[in-house]
Amino acid sequence: MQATFTIGNKSFILDQEKAEAAFAAKKVINGRETMFFNILPLKYQWAYELYRSMKANHWEPEDIPMQKDCEQWRSDEVSDIERWIIKMGIGYFSGAEGIVGDNILHVVRELVTAPELKLVLGRHAHEENIHADSLVYMISSLGINPHECESILEGIETVQKKTDFVSRNSRAMRRDIDLTQTSAKQDFAKNIFLFGQCMEGTQFYGLFGMVLSLYRQNKFPGIGQMFRYTLRDESNHIELLRNLLMDLVEENPDIWTQPFRDDLTQLMVEAVNLEKEFIRDCLPVNALGLSAEEFILYIDYIADRRLEGVGLNPLNPGVKNPFPWLAEMMDIKKEQNFFEGRVTEYQKASALDSVHDDEL
Ligand code: FE
Ligand code: MN
Repeated sequence: MQATFTIGNKSFILDQEKAEAAFAAKKVINGRETMFFNILPLKYQWAYELYRSMKANHWEPEDIPMQKDCEQWRSDEVSDIERWIIKMGIGYFSGAEGIVGDNILHVVRELVTAPELKLVLGRHAHEENIHADSLVYMISSLGINPHECESILEGIETVQKKTDFVSRNSRAMRRDIDLTQTSAKQDFAKNIFLFGQCMEGTQFYGLFGMVLSLYRQNKFPGIGQMFRYTLRDESNHIELLRNLLMDLVEENPDIWTQPFRDDLTQLMVEAVNLEKEFIRDCLPVNALGLSAEEFILYIDYIADRRLEGVGLNPLNPGVKNPFPWLAEMMDIKKEQNFFEGRVTEYQKASALDSVHDDEL
């Protein structure tokens, strides 16, 4: 018997019995391993949809002009503390983007079994490459010595501590893991939570906020724009890893014990503390319109949104977002004239996909 499956306005004819068997064999972990990349029939619809919206957001660093940034970098229009924030941003993210991409490829994509999950994780890893490449573009445009960025990464204790916090966990996951054991499943769930909610979801937001505060004052417009694109990508990564964790737990309820939930909350407490120490290093003195205390409050606010997102209790119930304007600025979709040049073309091309598919 034949059945028709529909995705968007594409439809596919599948053998009913085989399709049902393939569907049933799809699992986040411990599913059927097959050489055939059987994305169809889709079980994790969200993963395929997310893949498509990530693709529609594609951007390339060189599409963003850096002339104004270069002028400002060399002028006294900007202060030393503002230059320091940019250097910390480039230094920290040059390490962090690589660490995330590496963990996605060598831990998460390696351990999941459903093909549509592997598909979206491959795109995630590629977006980390784009982010790393955007930092290379900033370094070369501003004429910063890359070794100076490396020394930020290696020489500043609060940066080192944030980096160790995640890479320790990621390295420990690269061994033969028996994912039929509850404790191993919990280790995997912890890795997904650590990277998605603690690192990308919380520990990226101190600098994101600072760079976008500068952007709001018309300082470093090219860098600000790249950070906005990056942030839009990160929102998808946080959502991807949140959905993945939720589905993993739904299929493996033995993971979600009270002690395990307490562990995750504790991990977030640690992440928040490291981020607060780091913020004090980024803002040793307050800059124009930027105060360390407000960013610290902002991190409390963001961390609670992440905890609630995965069904955990907030640490500071009722804490208010000190930067309501930031949410607006992060939501790029609201702006009409933001996309110019190639970014629009990528979007159009993918919007047209569905039209042309009918003719193919
Ligand atoms: Fe990234
Ligand atoms: Mn990311």
